[in-house]
Formats: sequence, C-alpha cells, structure tokens
Amino acid sequence: TREEVTYFGAGPALLPTEVLKTAAEALLNYNDTGLGIAEHSHRSELATNIINNAKADLASYLDVPDDYEIMFMQGGGSGGFFATACNLVGIWVHRRKQKILSELGIVDGKEIPEDQLLKELQKAVDEELKIDYLVTGSWSLKASQEAVRMLGSEHVNIAADSRTVNDGKFGKIPEESSWKLSKNSAMIYFCDNETVDGVEFPAFPEALKPAGDDGPIVVADMSSNILSRRIPVKNFSVIFFGAQKNLGSTGITVVIIKKSLLPPAVATPPPTLLRKLGLPVGPTILSYETIAKNNSLYNTLSIFDVYIAGQVLKSLLATYPDKVDGQQAVSEKKAKAIYGALEAHPESYKIVPEKSVRSRMNICFRVTHHANIDESEKLFLKGAVENGLTGLKGHRSVGGIRASNYNSIPIAGAEKLAAYIESFAKTPR
Ligand code: PMP
Repeated sequence: TREEVTYFGAGPALLPTEVLKTAAEALLNYNDTGLGIAEHSHRSELATNIINNAKADLASYLDVPDDYEIMFMQGGGSGGFFATACNLVGIWVHRRKQKILSELGIVDGKEIPEDQLLKELQKAVDEELKIDYLVTGSWSLKASQEAVRMLGSEHVNIAADSRTVNDGKFGKIPEESSWKLSKNSAMIYFCDNETVDGVEFPAFPEALKPAGDDGPIVVADMSSNILSRRIPVKNFSVIFFGAQKNLGSTGITVVIIKKSLLPPAVATPPPTLLRKLGLPVGPTILSYETIAKNNSLYNTLSIFDVYIAGQVLKSLLATYPDKVDGQQAVSEKKAKAIYGALEAHPESYKIVPEKSVRSRMNICFRVTHHANIDESEKLFLKGAVENGLTGLKGHRSVGGIRASNYNSIPIAGAEKLAAYIESFAKTPR
C-alpha cells in the first residue's frame, strides 16, 4: 500500500496522499458541477480561477514580487531549454535594434532606414550575440546542447564546465573567478539543482550580481529544487521548472518571468526579421509573450495539472506559516539525516559530489560496502525494497544510488532511509 512505501524516485515524484484523494474526487465531480476537472473547458471561469489561485499561492509561498509574471506552459523542462534560449535571443535582438535606432537618431514616427538597420543588426548578431551556459551537470549540458542545435555553436558560450575541474565528471562547480562570461550576453543560464548528478548551487552566484534590470540576464532551471528553499527571485530574469518533482503532476512547466521582458516593455521581433538575420523562429506555444498575453491559455492547457499544483501549494501554505522558509528547514533536516548516515560509514559509502555543492534534493552515492560495487548496490537496493524504500536506483547514465528527497518525502521517510543506510553498513562484508 501507499503507507508501506517511501518512494525516492527522481520524478515523477511522490505527491501528498491528501492532494491525490481530493484530486481523485475532482476528476469525477469537480465542486458538484457533475463534471470532472479534466473535462471542464479550459476557457471556463472555473479554469481561470484555478490558474489565478495557483499563481497567487505560488507568488505568496515564494514571495514572488509584483513585477514578475507567472505562466503555465507545456513541453516539459526540455521544452524550457528551447523556450529560454529562443525567447531571450528574441529579446536581445529587440533591445539591440532599439539601441541601433537610437544611435541612428531615429525617434518614433521617423521612417526607419530598413537596409541600414538590417545591416547593423546583422553585424551585431554575427559579432556579439552570445548565450552563456554554466554546465554543472546533465541537465544544463542538455540545455546548452539544445541551444547549439537551435543557434549554432558560434552563439553559445560554455562559460564554465564542471567536468574540466573534476576529471571529466560532474560533481563540482568551478570557482566563479574562472567563469568566462560574455559581454552583454542574451542570457546566462544555469541549472540550480542537477537532478542526475546531485549537484546544487549553494546560493545565488556572486559573479552574476548585480542582477536585475541593469545587470546580467540570469535564467535558471529549478525543476528539481523549486519550493524547497528561499530564492532571491529579484536576481533572476526567468526561472522555470517542470512541475513533476516538487510542485505537482507531470504535464505543466512553470515560468516566472520579469515583466520588463514582456510587452509593452519589449516585443518579440517579427518572424520575417528573425529569418532575415538567420535566427530561429520558435513555435508559438513556447513564446513567452504569447503565453503571458493569454494568461497561460493560448491553447488547451491541462487544468487538471494546474489544479494539482494548486492543491500542493495550498497544502504547503497550510503546513508552513512561514511558507518556503518552513519547508527549507525541513528539507535541510531530511538531507542532513541521510548525508549524516552516509558520512558515518565512509568504508561502505562514497558520496558522489563534493561536499560544498551537495544537493539537498537528489542525494547521489555509491555503495562500496563489498569489494564489487555493482554487487554492493544490488544488495543495497534489494534490502531497501524489502524495507519499503523504493525508487533509489541512480540515473541510467551514471549508475549508483540516488535518493530524491523532495518535499513530499516526510521526515519519517528520510529517517527510515538513514536508519537503513546505517543498518546496511553493519551487515557482514
Ligand atoms: N531539468 C531538470 C533539472 C530535470 O531534472 C529534468 C527532468 N528530470 C528536466 C529539466 C527535463 O524535464 P522534462 O522531462 O519535463 O523535459
């Protein structure tokens, strides 16, 4: 039964049982309408209310300032890789165009010399357009590869790559002083928590300050640690995350974006201009401008998934009067219990990432209890399942063990895992 199992899978992840019970009811008959939540029109008032309530609760829980917009999108975290690059390049082109016009002394109403503008803009694109990536694990690597696929490697700058300081493997974050950031980059992208490699930024990087309107455009993937700690939202231009770990069910991706990157402050360049410049034109459903303009309802959105996210947020807000700070304390406590048990037995376990960048959410380790690691890990996993601890197998690309310690893992579940780690280390070698 659900009660007998603690599931440490990396995503989709455990959802609070109470939320699922309420949702099961809502799937059959939402608020006594005689129709299920997944059947109601996304254009209904009821759907709009669900969206607006989830936005308000997310803003309240994370203290998202008023000058940020919250959007629900589709295409998963991976869709976010394309969306971030495509939208931010569009915004860069828009701003660069404005700058050229002002340098040419073109004010509103005056005719724009199209040929000259295009020539200058093309020069700027060819010589200056860069997007920067901090590659600290598999997901930021994938995001950077998507950018290369979209734009070509000449526009993508890998400002840092953890593998260069860690024998070709992930598990560290290079010193900030070694990052090679571009000038006026269209965005600096990083993944706050690397789900596969168990690496989490300990705090907002100093090198990316001062952030904000005059500072660098900072974009972060927070798919696997959102809602688990306080974030300085003001330092980011865009934060995005798939819902399926800490927020809800699979199917929606949330974007928190600074309003100064949306109309009326900026406008995405028209497709004709982008094509002339040799830049990609993205799908409409990944356009931040379009989704923002339509309050997330440009096309059919899974209102059921937004509903689940809303219920999770309501439950977090009800549990923690001090909102995300309350959850942060619990997340730290759980991570400490698990890491503590692993550290107590260095002969039996090897924690993969360096201590200073260890993730509180995805705890990655190898089992070295027996001489043969594969055999050790098989035995560890087998015993874990017998104890009701499931989903612990590491990502197929890296092997090992990964305990995903998301918000829905209760303290007792983390403690149970810690106790199992202790007891396994005491089995005969
Ligand atoms: N970013 C991170 C940090 C992830 O953990 C994942 C998926 N585990 C993704 C992006 C990709 O998400 P999706 O599978 O929704 O495309």
